[in-house]
Amino acid sequence: MAAPQQVPIRAAPLARALRTRVAAAATSSARSPEASQRALLGLSEPELRQLAVDLGQQSYRGKQLHDLLYKSRAKHIQDFSHVPKVFREALVGAGWKVGRSPVHHAVTASDGTTKILLKLEDNRLIETVGIPVDDDKGPSRLTACVSSQVGCPLRCSFCATGKGGFSRNLHAHEIVEQVLVLEEMFKHRVTNVVFMGMGEPMLNLKSVLEAHRCLNKELKIGQRMITISTVGVPNTIKMLASHKLQSTLAVSLHAPNQKLRETIVPSAKSYPLEALMDDCKNYFLETGRRVSFEYTLLAGINDAKEHAEELAELLRKCGGGYHVNLIPYNPIQGSEYKRPYRKVVQAFVDALEARKITVSVRQTRGLDANAACGQLKNEFQKNPLLESSPSSEPNLIPA
Ligand code: SF4
Repeated sequence: MAAPQQVPIRAAPLARALRTRVAAAATSSARSPEASQRALLGLSEPELRQLAVDLGQQSYRGKQLHDLLYKSRAKHIQDFSHVPKVFREALVGAGWKVGRSPVHHAVTASDGTTKILLKLEDNRLIETVGIPVDDDKGPSRLTACVSSQVGCPLRCSFCATGKGGFSRNLHAHEIVEQVLVLEEMFKHRVTNVVFMGMGEPMLNLKSVLEAHRCLNKELKIGQRMITISTVGVPNTIKMLASHKLQSTLAVSLHAPNQKLRETIVPSAKSYPLEALMDDCKNYFLETGRRVSFEYTLLAGINDAKEHAEELAELLRKCGGGYHVNLIPYNPIQGSEYKRPYRKVVQAFVDALEARKITVSVRQTRGLDANAACGQLKNEFQKNPLLESSPSSEPNLIPA
């Protein structure tokens, strides 16, 4: 469903916003950070039409650009054979580019899950993961797990990405292109997008919202098929709720009380659990979309029956409109945490279900050790991906 969105960049009058971009293009060097903001990918048809007019072309040339970007999937301006050479030259001269990055490496597990490393313009690597779900007739669903930052500053204790530090936020087109490259790799359209790759989306909300708009409007991925994940950044859930998107908010909880949570998620110190739960409740009331609470089960840390009971109580106070997604921890190199036994996971599920909490357990996939939320590794070179699926947890309930 198309809900109104108020992506900040679009608040400025269209012509002024575009002129600012073109003017910036004329004055900044090709390798500066601003260069990435001159990507055509991510722009809407009206913006592309305005750009065409600003470069001395007729408006319909902007529609042609739109088709080239989102239908033909052209990767370079020199591939824009449908538009006059003079327009292509004007685009290049003004510093515009398509905004696609080369694939640095890709690995596919035996279950089809594929992880791709994209090499960005500044040579940084980001990860994106495609997770196919097949039925009798072939692939029926393809989920893209996209990154929103290069690295992550939040340093959750169990997370490989956090351990690798933070480099920079991604621009909107660098998020959108992750979906495009997966569609090309799988030769199948992406049906679902989860912002659960590298980075904390709420720390890059402007680009995440711009990418969300593009994925929904230009690539026709339904808002309900998009999930935005967060460990919780003060004031941002309210901000997201104000956009009234029809997308799912996934909150990485990982503990049923503030004290334990602070040991697992250090950034929780600045966001009391009570305030986080209030904001989640508000998100549900504002959008009508239930919140998914992600809970990574760490053996001997947060996986006891008492923790499940405490979690049920916390959620009961939150009212309705939520779902719990349990993620048995996938150990990473150098981590002190361990994966819980299956019977412990089942006991946790039973304790929640006995208290009428809707719960699922994330199914282990071939690259899950690298592809789960916050466990995407930015250390690919040191830790090559598994080529085949590890055997564990055949009885887990699919998420
Ligand atoms: S779990 Fe998510 S928010 Fe936490 S450090 Fe990892 S990427 Fe960042």
